[in-house]
Amino acid sequence: MHPTHICFLQTRLAGMGLYTGAIDGLRGPLTDMASRRALSRLGHPLPQGWAIWPGYRHAAAALQVMARQAGFDPGPVDGHWGLRTLQAVNALIDSTEEDRPDPPVTPHRWPSEGDVPAFYGPHGTPEGARPPLVQVPTPWLFRIAWDLSQTRRFLWAHEKTAASVTRILSRIHHHYGAARIHDLRLDIFSGDYAPRLMRGSRTRWSMHAWGIAYDFDDTENRLHWGADRARLARPDYRPFWEIWEAEGWVSLGRTQDRDWMHVQAAHLD
Ligand SMILES: [Zn+2]
Repeated sequence: MHPTHICFLQTRLAGMGLYTGAIDGLRGPLTDMASRRALSRLGHPLPQGWAIWPGYRHAAAALQVMARQAGFDPGPVDGHWGLRTLQAVNALIDSTEEDRPDPPVTPHRWPSEGDVPAFYGPHGTPEGARPPLVQVPTPWLFRIAWDLSQTRRFLWAHEKTAASVTRILSRIHHHYGAARIHDLRLDIFSGDYAPRLMRGSRTRWSMHAWGIAYDFDDTENRLHWGADRARLARPDYRPFWEIWEAEGWVSLGRTQDRDWMHVQAAHLD
C-alpha cells in the first residue's frame, strides 16, 4: 500500500469515528485496529478466520470492502494487496475527490499558535494542571544546562507530538552520532514542559506550557542573539534543523532570527 492509500483509509476511518491518530500515510497499530473495527461495522461478508489476520490484512481488507461497496471490483475480500485491489482502490480514490488527501509533504501539520488550545487542549499551570504528557526516551544522554553534572534520559512531550519527537531524536542520533552530538552541545538540555507565560508577556502562555517546545543549549543561544552569535545558526546544525522541519516543527531562529535555542510544534500566527 502506498501512503496515499493509507491516508485515504485513515481519512475514511476517522470519518467513521474509529480513528483518532494522525492522517500521515503511515500504517501503525491505530490504523490496523480501526480497520478491524471498520470490517465488523461495514457489514460485508468476510472469510472465516478474518478476525485473527495480521494488521496489514485488516487494513487492505477494509479498503477492499470500501471499494466493493462503492461499486468497484477489488476481487475477493481477502486482505491481500494485489493488482485488482490496487486498481479498484485507486478508482475509488479517484471517484471521491473530497476524500482525497493532499500528498503528505510533512507527516504532521501542527496548528498555528492561535489554534494551539483548540488542537492540544488546555496548557499546564503553575498550580499543577498538566496537559497530557508522555516521557519520550532519548537516544543520547542529555546534560542539564543549569547543572552539567545532572543528566536526563527522556524528554517530556505532549501526547500528540510524542511519536514525532521520538522519530526526530532517532534521526538526529542517526545523522550525527552520540560523540558529535556531544561536541556540538546538542546534548545540552535547556527546557521542555514548563507551565509558564511567554517570556516578556503577562498574558500569553509559552508553547512550553503545552509540552510542545524544546530549548537546547541556552548559554550559547541567548534569547536575543541573532545568527551572528547563536551557535545553533552555524552550518553544522543545518541537518539538525532540517530534521525538525521535515516533521513540521518551527525554529524561531530559522524563521525569525531570535531565540535560536527554541523549537516548537506550532506555526507562527
Ligand atoms: Zn523555548
